[in-house]
Amino acid sequence: MMEQPETKVKLAVNGGISFGAKLNAKQLVTLAEYMDDGQEIELTTFQQLYIEVPETQLETAKQRFKEVGLSCYPVGNYVKSLRTCNFCKGAEEEGMPVALELNERLAGRSVPFTLKPAYTGCPVGCGEPLVNDIGVMKVKDGYDLYIGGRAKGTNAKVGTLFLEQLTPEQLYETVDQLIEIYQSHGKKREPFAKFVERYGFEEIYNQIVS
Ligand code: SF4
Repeated sequence: MMEQPETKVKLAVNGGISFGAKLNAKQLVTLAEYMDDGQEIELTTFQQLYIEVPETQLETAKQRFKEVGLSCYPVGNYVKSLRTCNFCKGAEEEGMPVALELNERLAGRSVPFTLKPAYTGCPVGCGEPLVNDIGVMKVKDGYDLYIGGRAKGTNAKVGTLFLEQLTPEQLYETVDQLIEIYQSHGKKREPFAKFVERYGFEEIYNQIVS
């Protein structure tokens, strides 16, 4: 009888939210343990690596990755892990704890189409928040929130300022509501930026703010 090829599951991994998107030797070696000869790892534009692991080893792989400080996320129609900047001016000053909490609340949530959130610690904007679905920029002591940016295609555009100078709690709550509205009213496979155009920025604003 012919042997069935082993089913593999694609996982997105990265080194978590820290000073830039970096990996150490231990993490690279651990990833390599789950790769066959000739197998490749895919480097995405969103600070994630895609690795395919055998389904039968999925849970142990996730556990091993966690032990060496790698974060794992699902691949598909989920909110991606938060893209960040390098926090070059310091973790506290640039709001790294807020970025960590935001990622915790957002990443992996099921949505109509892959949603890319990005965060940047100052107006220089190294995390490119304005060309992502949901973009957060720390400006002085507050958090400015942009929605509906699109990096791809000939209709690429910058996001629109939704609310500015939010406190961390206000930011978490607002982003949470944005995801819920998108989950309830977005069409299947409708990208978030397109959803904002169709459903209406004003409508979303009114539901959240009033
Ligand atoms: S956005 Fe600001 S804090 Fe973040 S890496 Fe760029 S310059 Fe540094």
